Order: sequence, then structure tokens, then C-alpha cells
Amino acid sequence: MTRIMAIVSQKGGVGKTSLVQNLGAELANQGQLTLLVDLDPQSNLTTGWGLDPGEDRYTIYDAMSDPKHSTQTIMEIRPNLYLMPANLDLAGAELAFINEIDRNTKLRKALSPIAHHFDFILIDGPPSLGFFTVNALAAASEILIPLQVHPYAYKALDQLMSIVAKVEEINPSLFLGGITLTMYDQRNSLTSAIEDAARKRFPGDVFTTVIPINVRIAEATLDGISVGEYEPSSSGAKAYQALAQEVIARGQA
Ligand code: ADP
Ligand code: MG
Repeated sequence: MTRIMAIVSQKGGVGKTSLVQNLGAELANQGQLTLLVDLDPQSNLTTGWGLDPGEDRYTIYDAMSDPKHSTQTIMEIRPNLYLMPANLDLAGAELAFINEIDRNTKLRKALSPIAHHFDFILIDGPPSLGFFTVNALAAASEILIPLQVHPYAYKALDQLMSIVAKVEEINPSLFLGGITLTMYDQRNSLTSAIEDAARKRFPGDVFTTVIPINVRIAEATLDGISVGEYEPSSSGAKAYQALAQEVIARGQA
């Protein structure tokens, strides 16, 4: 069965796109056929792989408009690793589909002709709880939440969970696949208290692996490559590698 993961958070800058790019790269390295979906009009994931969103190509918007374009949309970026890119067309998607009865399942329909080819599909959306996040949650089999280690992180999480509950009608089998602590700063004295609280509050859901603050992650994206390619010995690269192992293992449990 294909594991379709919606990586969601209504907060920007929590490391969502970096998670999709680098977890995806490590899943592919570990032999999993992986598709990454850029569902953000800002196209950060597309840019993160060194692609110019301004170039003329089929994008996720075309696939959502008509699933017969889905196959054409897929680009091979590495062995085992594929991308459905975005561009600014996506910014008009909400308005374009607003009167359509299936507006919330456009992504699900776009993925349905191709999903079975893959072991993993990771969906990266914009920092909001609107149209794109609802489409991601409707298309997914599980949710992966990046939780920035920050005193106010829980507030956002409660809001997010209420959206997840609302999507239940269109996707009753959706479940929480896991919570990843991101931007983990060991030097901050609050970090371990926040981590402990998160692990108590969501027993079994928080991955053992945390994603540390590591400037190599940002540098890699600017170079259009994964951090594993940029500097394999960095703390960031090792963290995503370990996280990929945990994600794969959870699916086998
Ligand atoms: P989001 O998609 O949630 O907005 P991004 O993944 O784009 O977040 O990350 C925001 C910025 O922080 C980017 O410049 C990214 O390269 C950088 N970044 C992401 N994760 C880390 C990290 N663990 N350590 C340092 N910088 C990071
Ligand atoms: Mg992003």
C-alpha cells in the first residue's frame, strides 16, 4: 500500500518544506520509490530541487485540473525520487475550483491514477489551514506534523487537529502518522522541557529522531540539493536519515 503523507502546519518557517525534501531524499536512498508533491504556490519545494518554477512545464495545477495530465507532471529528480512541481498557476487554484463540488478532493483525484506506483507520496503545502491543506488531508493516508520546539507550538497544534477532525467526513481513515520535532536547539534551556511535554502529551506519536537546527539544511536548499548530498556528515543529514528509518519502521509495525 502506498503511504500518502500530508506534511502540514499552518505556521511558516517550521521546516516543513525541508522535511519533505530531505525525508523524501532519504526514503528514496533507502530503496523506497518516493513521490514529492509541491502543493504550495510559492513553489519552495520545486526551487529546493534547483528547478525554476518559471519554466514551462506541466505542474500539479494541471494534474488537479485534469488527472489525465498527472503522469506528464511527474519529473524524475534522483534514483527512486520523483517530483510533481508547482508554479504560480497554483495560486489561482482555489478560485478556479471554488464552485466545483469536488474542490476539496482535486488532489486526491490528481494522485489516484499514479499513486499505486509509489511506496511513499509526501505532500508539501503552504502555511495555512485553507484550501490546499484540506486537499492534502483529503488525499493523504496519514499526517506528519513538524512541530517546532517552541513554547507556543501547542496552540497551533490544537487548531490543526480541529481541521483534521473536520476532514474526517471526506477522509475517515486518515490518521496521525507522527510528529517530528524540528528546529531543535540543544543550547536552548527550554528545549528539553518542551520536548518532554510533547512526548507526554502525544505518547508514541513523537519520533525519537529530532531535526536539529543546522545551517547546512538551509545551504543545501539554496544549492538546489538535499542536505545528504550537500554534506552527508552534517547533523541535519544524519537526522533525516534516521527519521526515514523510523518512518519506514512504523509502517511495518
Ligand atoms: P516551511 O516550509 O515550514 O516554511 P522551510 O523548510 O522552508 O519551512 O524552512 C524555513 C527556512 O529555514 C528555510 O530557509 C530553511 O532552509 C531553513 N531551515 C529549515 N529547517 C532547518 C533546520 N533544521 N535548521 C536550520 N535551518 C532550517
Ligand atoms: Mg514551505
